Amino acid sequence: MAAPTVMDKLVSLAKRRGFVFQSSEVYGGLGSVWDYGPLGVELKKNVKDRWWQAMVQARDDIEGLDAAILMHPKVWEASGHVAGFTDPLVDCRTCKARFRADKLADAACPQKPSKHPGEHSTCDLTEPRLFNLMFKTFMGPVEEQAAVVYLRPETAQGIYVNYLNVLNSSRQKIPFGIAQIGKAFRNEITPGNFIFRTREFEQMEMQFFVKPGTDDEWFQRWRALRMAWHHDLGLNPDKLRWHQHGPTELAHYARAAYDIEYQFPFGWQEIEGVHNRTDFDLKRHQEHSGKKLEYFEQASGERYVPFIVETSAGADRVTLTVLVDAYREEQVEGELRVVLGFHPKIAPIKAAVLPLVNKDRMPEMAAALYNDLRRHFPCFYDDGGAIGRRYRRMDEVGTPFCLTVDGQSAEDGQVTVRHRDSMQQDRIALGQVLSFLRERL
Ligand code: ATP
Repeated sequence: MAAPTVMDKLVSLAKRRGFVFQSSEVYGGLGSVWDYGPLGVELKKNVKDRWWQAMVQARDDIEGLDAAILMHPKVWEASGHVAGFTDPLVDCRTCKARFRADKLADAACPQKPSKHPGEHSTCDLTEPRLFNLMFKTFMGPVEEQAAVVYLRPETAQGIYVNYLNVLNSSRQKIPFGIAQIGKAFRNEITPGNFIFRTREFEQMEMQFFVKPGTDDEWFQRWRALRMAWHHDLGLNPDKLRWHQHGPTELAHYARAAYDIEYQFPFGWQEIEGVHNRTDFDLKRHQEHSGKKLEYFEQASGERYVPFIVETSAGADRVTLTVLVDAYREEQVEGELRVVLGFHPKIAPIKAAVLPLVNKDRMPEMAAALYNDLRRHFPCFYDDGGAIGRRYRRMDEVGTPFCLTVDGQSAEDGQVTVRHRDSMQQDRIALGQVLSFLRERL
């Protein structure tokens, strides 16, 4: 049997330690749908909170929005999704597997032996046909064509159709942006690579409305800001790069598009897109709804339909990136140490309190410290087993600091801080633990 890959190890760790479980596992699982466990929900929430902080709370020129998943079906006609949100689908005539015609790298047929023993021939593929990726359902009690609604395949459209509501209620002026985090659904032909490509996922999208003619400048500015955000998340800069969409890759609405790519164990892949969408979306909604979506610029007396610069990242995909980037194995004193070296700001557990032995006032002191710290951030209390094993358990879930209360603590009022990455240990006074952690989280 082949040795487990990094992805195999990560999927198994994620399950064992409560980051990510397969959906409906007791029924055999549902294809490419995943549930976040106790640590996963904290990790993903930290990713989303950092995005919201950087994109909404730290800026005067961006407002938040939480639009519903279900929208008027005409939205998706206007946006072009009903007619054009398709991938080319091909089938293998022999094994019946389905592939995206533009992603055929692994089309090896398990039922068609090759001339070389132990290998398989490539699949016998049909001509591509277009497959719409939107999930359809019915609204109300009657299942008829007139009642068809879609699960949104992107959050952006909820922003476009609310742009005047937000503008008028917030007293913003162009240039300004609207940001939103929410679920999106795509009936992907070939989902996979754990939570990289799933059929239900969360997007973190921001649409920035600008005066035509200033779009290139804003596009460049947003490219720089978004790459800096991924660096701030603690991702290895050598594993991040830009990919510019060539003329054949550009979406129908885009004038320019760049992807931020990360070097996953399965290759360089997109984690975020930055797009200059021009005035395509607002003009289409204007045509289809019959409502004017122009902006009146008081200073110049001009009226125009704004251009839009979009930044679109997947919350699940960034969470996977953070997990992959953090995962490392080390040999420490002849033993394997598995570490998730998260940036402390996104670590699901910030500190663990570990009483060393069960005697004197130690458990009381440790419990008091734990109860104090947990009011401020997620902490963990562990009094079971050898201290070395307790440290390893915390390394494996990425807890940046362990606080050990030992026999001396009752005498000198100090605890040992053990750093996850260097494994260095320092003594600090109990009364300073909170400020010590605060400075580093
Ligand atoms: P692809 O070509 O890989 O299908 P896309 O170019 O259609 O992706 P966008 O529409 O630009 O992707 O989506 C923006 C972001 O949303 C992506 O960068 C990604 O992080 C996330 N995303 C898109 N589809 C999925 C999915 N099926 N599962 C998880 N995240 C996704």
